Amino acid sequence: THFGFETVSEAEKTEKVYKVFENVAKKYDIMNDAMSLGIHRLWKDRLLHVMNPVPGTKLLDVAGGTGDITFRFVDYVRFRLRCQTRRELKSRQSLSWQQIAESYGQNESKSLGGSHAIVCDINKQMLKVGKQKAQSLGYTKGVSWVVGNAEELPFDDNKFDVYTIAFGIRNVTHISQALEEAYRVLKPGGRFLCLEFSRVNNPFLSRLYDLYSFQVIPVLGEVIAGDWKSYQYLVESIRRFPEQEEFKAMMEDVGFLKTEYHNITSGVVAIHSGFKL
Ligand code: SAM
Repeated sequence: THFGFETVSEAEKTEKVYKVFENVAKKYDIMNDAMSLGIHRLWKDRLLHVMNPVPGTKLLDVAGGTGDITFRFVDYVRFRLRCQTRRELKSRQSLSWQQIAESYGQNESKSLGGSHAIVCDINKQMLKVGKQKAQSLGYTKGVSWVVGNAEELPFDDNKFDVYTIAFGIRNVTHISQALEEAYRVLKPGGRFLCLEFSRVNNPFLSRLYDLYSFQVIPVLGEVIAGDWKSYQYLVESIRRFPEQEEFKAMMEDVGFLKTEYHNITSGVVAIHSGFKL
């Protein structure tokens, strides 16, 4: 069962998932670091490398939670803009790289060159924690926060260049419906990217991973967040999620083309990619 209780209905699942993330919101970031020994940061960085966004990109980060993917997107775009502006300055003026770096304004470094990101999540509490983080870390420009369900997105058709969903899709009750919605809101040419726990393809690591997931993670959940059941749910939800090939086929069923996936850390997580063409 999902929570160690009786089997739950679909409506109950949505409600229980909501409660899980409401409970864990404040400790969510600390727990991610503790549970993955910080490795989730590298997985998220990898998603951005695969995305490789250019200035002007419109991103929809679904199940965006406390904003980790969006903040990386902003950093990535800012970095590209900085390089671009510096190259332009260098070609127009006979300044040294040192002088260019010094003259480079604070405002310019904050601009996103027409890029925009929307963090969309069903859970108000997660978004609240994310917004506070954005304020304190300086990720306010070009970022919006919207409450919404991945299965029924509050956006028009053909709006976004990139749709991301990181560690979110396994929590959605109807995965195919969420995929259809992703397809609908992407512009023609837009890209779907999903980062999610998947099937480990190394037998030794697989055994170790099982042991760690079922024996250690709920204990960490209890000790750090005082919440055994929510973390037990998270582990169980990973096991129920379709494996790499199956999820790729689900993406193709709703119309995505040029689909592929990359396993990371022997398939502990996978990045799935597909285009609306
Ligand atoms: N993407 C963030 C990250 O990588 O740190 C957060 C991932 S967190 C494990 C999963 C998020 O999915 C939670 O914030 C939860 O509220 C959200 N979520 C669950 N079901 C959802 C749904 N149907 N629509 C939108 N968000 C949902």
